[in-house]
Amino acid sequence: SILLLHRPAAAHDKLLGGLLADGFDEGSCHSKYQSAMYRRNNAGKEPSPHLVSRLRRHEELQRRCGPGTAAYSNAVESLRTGKSGGIVSPPETECRYLVSISYRGLGNRMLAAASAFLYAMLTDRVLLVDPSNEMGELFCEPFPGTTWLLPPAGFPLTNYTSFSIDTAESYGNMLKNKVITTDDAAGDVPTPHQHLPAFAYIHLDHDYTFHDKFFFCDDDQSVLRNVPWLVMRTDSYIVPGLFLVTGFQAELDSLFPETDAVFHHLARYLFHPNNHIWGLVTRYYDAYLATARQRVGVQVRVFGARQESPKVLEQITACTHMENLLPDVTTTGEPTVVAAPATTRRRLKPKAVLVTSLTSWYYEKLKGMYWEHATATGEAVSVHQPSHEEYQRFGSGSHDAKACAEIYLLSLTDALVTSGWSTFGYVAQGLAGLTPRVMYKPANESSAVPDPPCRRDVSMEPCFLTPPYNNCRMKRSAHSGKVVAHVQNCHDVPWGLKLV
Ligand code: GDP
Repeated sequence: SILLLHRPAAAHDKLLGGLLADGFDEGSCHSKYQSAMYRRNNAGKEPSPHLVSRLRRHEELQRRCGPGTAAYSNAVESLRTGKSGGIVSPPETECRYLVSISYRGLGNRMLAAASAFLYAMLTDRVLLVDPSNEMGELFCEPFPGTTWLLPPAGFPLTNYTSFSIDTAESYGNMLKNKVITTDDAAGDVPTPHQHLPAFAYIHLDHDYTFHDKFFFCDDDQSVLRNVPWLVMRTDSYIVPGLFLVTGFQAELDSLFPETDAVFHHLARYLFHPNNHIWGLVTRYYDAYLATARQRVGVQVRVFGARQESPKVLEQITACTHMENLLPDVTTTGEPTVVAAPATTRRRLKPKAVLVTSLTSWYYEKLKGMYWEHATATGEAVSVHQPSHEEYQRFGSGSHDAKACAEIYLLSLTDALVTSGWSTFGYVAQGLAGLTPRVMYKPANESSAVPDPPCRRDVSMEPCFLTPPYNNCRMKRSAHSGKVVAHVQNCHDVPWGLKLV
């Protein structure tokens, strides 16, 4: 029957092409299996069979070595006593860990967690996310049958959340102070005379040093492989940097035959808003967006003290008009081109604009514009904004929940206009699978509206805003535009790197 014929396809969709494991308790996380129903904008990016099988294998590793297992207790005990991975590689059965510190805004935290997850997968490490910044309060557990959150009680590195550029155990500082060397790492044999520490702190914040940047080099990855615990701090999407490591390239190629969809798959695998946030998303979508003919997301992020900028408003209207996303308005109050007689027009569903911003000013202006003036095409345009939080807050659950819901709502639109430099927009476009029109950041408040006001981005991938520019001890030629295949500079941040 038709019903039966449709069933496998529906199941396939529900699990996002095999990205998600089956058999999860659906009541505990509605978004996990319902999001496919809300996405009409399917980018047509299918996860590769290799990615699917590696995800299942990684879930198995997380269950075997994660919190609550004997392996985990042993590893924590070794960390407490300072026992290292030792002189030779730990046997394959031994578990190794990556603790990911999440900090700054939600977009930053999501990019960091996705990056850490990919690095964990590439290096067979158990990913444990620092719980101190609401990651556990916003998202469902991604790994079935275990937890991705680091249990704070009993973790021996009690001050890990304050690790910084000065931490003596940072990989960069240990290299600089010759506590660790990479001299013998190039060969296949493990460094014979080097005693490795029980843990290393990987500092990948924007202020990271010349030595910290060696993280993105092959020799250094060979050394780090034998350190049982890594604690990583980044607020960036470091994945383009992982593509620079020759040793990862073959695996990355088979995991992601489409290099412009790496974050798309990682994000759809990892980030499922919890039931409270999913309620915020679906109630809003059903009430204001579901019936529209087309949904256009406009993400307005203004960096600087003054949130309300007439120039940014002009940039938005110029961009949406130039890109044919939204109609222009007339000054006469009458449509210039009457596409259809009034009777037909009334049956034409409106275009819906979803604005997200810390202020309601842009929303008010756009809404007023489409109320007070007729559109040139005669189309109706409705304008919506879920919240206006006025300023960025830290450590507030309800603030983060709204930010999370809005990122997700943006990802359910059919076309996106984003603000350059903003990780908030990067996450939305990646989840959506949409290559956005990105608006350039004006140089300062008094500078003119950028011309052109926006441009179709080169891919849906986030930009790595602070990539390494060292050349791995002269073994790799320094960066010049195109670094390796599929990695190039970002439109919005010229020195940034992104996958295409
Ligand atoms: P970025 O600073 O633009 O790269 O994005 P982040 O998400 O890392 O940090 C900005 C933070 O400010 C968000 O996480 C929110 O807390 C808040 N924020 C910024 N823009 C918006 C918005 O449009 N809506 C909501 N609800 N919060 C926002």
